[in-house]
Amino acid sequence: MTTETVTAEAGRDFIRDIVAADLDQGRRKQIVTRFPPEPNGYLHIGHAKSIALNFGIAQEFAGRCHLRFDDTNPTKEEQEYIDSIQADVHWLGYDWGSNLFYASDYFERLYEWAEILIRNGDAYVDDQSQEQIRLTRGTLTEAGKNSPFRERSIAENLDLFRRMRAGEFPNGARVLRAKIDMASGNINLRDPVLYRILHATHPRTGDKWSIYPSYDYAHGQSDAIEGITHSICTLEFEDHRPLYDWLLDKLPVPSKPHQYEFARLNLTYTLLSKRVLTELVRGGHVAGWDDPRMPSLAGLKRRGVPPAAIRGFIKRIGVAKANSVVDVGMLEFCIREELNRTALRRMAVLRPLKVMIENYPEGQLEELEAVNHPDDPAAGMRKIAFGRELFIEHDDFMENPPKKFFRLSPGNEVRLRYAYFIKCHDVVKNTAGEVVELRCTYDPATKGGNAPDGRKVKATMHWLSAAKSRPAEIRLYNQLFTNPSPDAANFAGDLNPQSLEILSDARIEPAIVEARSREPVQFERQGYFVPDPDSTPEHPVFNRTIGLRDTFAKEVAAKG
Ligand code: ATP
Ligand code: MG
Repeated sequence: MTTETVTAEAGRDFIRDIVAADLDQGRRKQIVTRFPPEPNGYLHIGHAKSIALNFGIAQEFAGRCHLRFDDTNPTKEEQEYIDSIQADVHWLGYDWGSNLFYASDYFERLYEWAEILIRNGDAYVDDQSQEQIRLTRGTLTEAGKNSPFRERSIAENLDLFRRMRAGEFPNGARVLRAKIDMASGNINLRDPVLYRILHATHPRTGDKWSIYPSYDYAHGQSDAIEGITHSICTLEFEDHRPLYDWLLDKLPVPSKPHQYEFARLNLTYTLLSKRVLTELVRGGHVAGWDDPRMPSLAGLKRRGVPPAAIRGFIKRIGVAKANSVVDVGMLEFCIREELNRTALRRMAVLRPLKVMIENYPEGQLEELEAVNHPDDPAAGMRKIAFGRELFIEHDDFMENPPKKFFRLSPGNEVRLRYAYFIKCHDVVKNTAGEVVELRCTYDPATKGGNAPDGRKVKATMHWLSAAKSRPAEIRLYNQLFTNPSPDAANFAGDLNPQSLEILSDARIEPAIVEARSREPVQFERQGYFVPDPDSTPEHPVFNRTIGLRDTFAKEVAAKG
């Protein structure tokens, strides 16, 4: 029932309009986009928006999309991240084919081009410290100050830059800066740093380099080398575009890409920043990058979110030019919608309460038929066992029910789904006064769940046979933050202490374990659940992907 192929979808937005016009009017012959992650963390759902946009456009307009690692800062980048990013892009349903690139592949060319800038008087070596450079950059209302090293001779600049490369100077001793305009109204044009000294081992180039290009210098030139036509990035780079264009203009680049900016994805109750996500992992607030509470793609995957639900969500929110915050409820809606369509139905009892059917013969078991998917007859039927000892959900019983409680209570009749009507006669309690077992009777004439005399019941409940169900651990996840707009600078205070609840003596249908499927299922009346990678046939573990209804927002509102 699940289709993992991504079909080209004809959604339109301002970027697609630009692309279509460039093709129609012959400004571009083939569309080339790229997704350029820095391998300093795992991808999150914000990245999914960029991935879907870049790969989506390439598919829809018969172009290609590159995966390019923007690996210019060896102090923060790791092979683990390179591997996870590739796995996550594939999982999301996109493929770069043979177009896998690294900015570090271009280090030599970028270096040669930097020498060209120096020779043309467009770059200089600055001996000021990072702090001095920051202090002399000026403000939005005040021009910056020229560096005392700005007028160095070309020969001296070349000599110093070569010695920077050769590793003669310590970290931070010098930088290479573009020579543009310290009085520019755009701070990005006030002699931006192109190269810094960094004695660090790079995951790909090892110890070959002692200097590394800045993002601004590496990015546009990498785009040009790869023949990218539409370099799509988030809005915070809008003010960098004049620098992007300035560099392309000054250098003998083989092609002229154009940068376009769109609004990044923000979600309520969620922080989408690799810095914060890294701190959540390092600080032990979550179990890892793939903790199901994380908005990382690895976390969403482990939680059981189908990639099609993420693609559907991204499509639904569209691409705009103004920043906004999307209600996380919208993502949840898309997850439910997809899982409702695809997930097989099963029964599980999360907090079991024992039920003894006193008039059912001891030692007898019978098999009843249950549908696998109410909207998909092709999904077929399965057998579930019924016997004298059953489990029902603890919450489905009340000894002294309020008026509108229609589920099981003494004297009240209910339907057990796919099985029989039952009635409760007696309640067994432990010494603490807690209900531990119910004594019930069933009506054999109601097999399949209907009474021949036409009498009705107001509740249908899920249940499992005690003998033929399996114990399981179930992990219930809630939002990681209680604040709809968590404070990125100080998120600890906004963490939800109830983001994980572990139910260690739940019961599930044995068929779920026997199938060994890793597909999400719906536990009827509970929500969607998926086996966790920790799960084994001996110790099944399920994660709740999402409940059937949106209760979180209401709970938060109620707590005030
Ligand atoms: P973060 O802000 O999470 O640290 P980043 O921008 O530093 O992310 P990159 O690896 O540089 O991470 O991102 C790769 C691409 O994904 C960039 O083009 C970036 O614009 C895009 N991207 C990052 N976050 C979002 C987001 N929330 N919504 C849309 N696109 C995003
Ligand atoms: Mg970035």
